[in-house]
Amino acid sequence: MDTAAYRVRPDEPVDLSARPTRDDGGLSRDQGREQFRKLTRRLQALQEVMYAQNRHSLLVVLQAMDAGGKDSTLRNVFGPVNPQGCHVSSFKAPSTLERSHDFLWRIHQQVPPRGHIGVFNRSHYEDVLIVRVKDLAPKSVWQKRFDHINHFEKMIADEGVSVVKFYLHISKAYQQKRLQRRLDRPDKHWKFNPDDLAERARWAEYMHAFEDALSKCSQPHAPWYVVPAERRWFRNLLVAQVVVDTLEALNMKLPEPTFDPATIRIE
Ligand code: ATP
Ligand code: MG
Repeated sequence: MDTAAYRVRPDEPVDLSARPTRDDGGLSRDQGREQFRKLTRRLQALQEVMYAQNRHSLLVVLQAMDAGGKDSTLRNVFGPVNPQGCHVSSFKAPSTLERSHDFLWRIHQQVPPRGHIGVFNRSHYEDVLIVRVKDLAPKSVWQKRFDHINHFEKMIADEGVSVVKFYLHISKAYQQKRLQRRLDRPDKHWKFNPDDLAERARWAEYMHAFEDALSKCSQPHAPWYVVPAERRWFRNLLVAQVVVDTLEALNMKLPEPTFDPATIRIE
């Protein structure tokens, strides 16, 4: 699959209304699922080598509007990965302590250590998204954060962290369907938060904030991908493909043993 078509080029202007929310990459659902199964096995193998080699790490950032499918992407793509080598961090509204620090303080602590995959369910991008849309900090503060984010991501990339970022792209109509489903199904009521409707009402402002963040903060070492997210099998496939390609590019090898296995006898 050609994942480059979904990548945002550095400083490329992004018009989300012109990007598909529903795609199939020219595949049938069955073909997509078969490819996904193969990628899952490849991801498991690559993760094991990364863990054994203990040199590189991978940071995956997931952002989306409510009901955009972050949880389900996480479960499908990273569920099969050895939990010993994979950690998910969910970033909610910052606590009093977190708010008394700079916006990257709580983020930096969760960057995956060598040998590990870290997945951010929401991230430091909230500090140029909800913070901007809801005016939680003055423009003079959030505006400078694009540069701070770029420098931060460059720093961790230079230190051995591969960074890849996904915006799960859905339409406002699709969000309505998914939120309604949460209302209709008693087993999904816990997922419904009436406050989400206030965010939904600011859809256009969120799209504008996302466009700015995607355009300003997609770099060769930390690219953004706009993932058409309304077909879930395609969404999972695209995310898995990019993750596998990113790991493959590291050319990782299992470490050489520090002993000669042929000379060792186990009695
Ligand atoms: P779900 O999609 O399953 O509802 P969620 O990620 O929306 O999960 P919630 O607890 O519903 O989790 O919401 C977390 C909220 O915290 C979001 O509205 C998000 O915008 C907000 N948030 C995250 N980071 C920040 C931040 N730095 N400043 C202010 N709000 C933030
Ligand atoms: Mg929510």
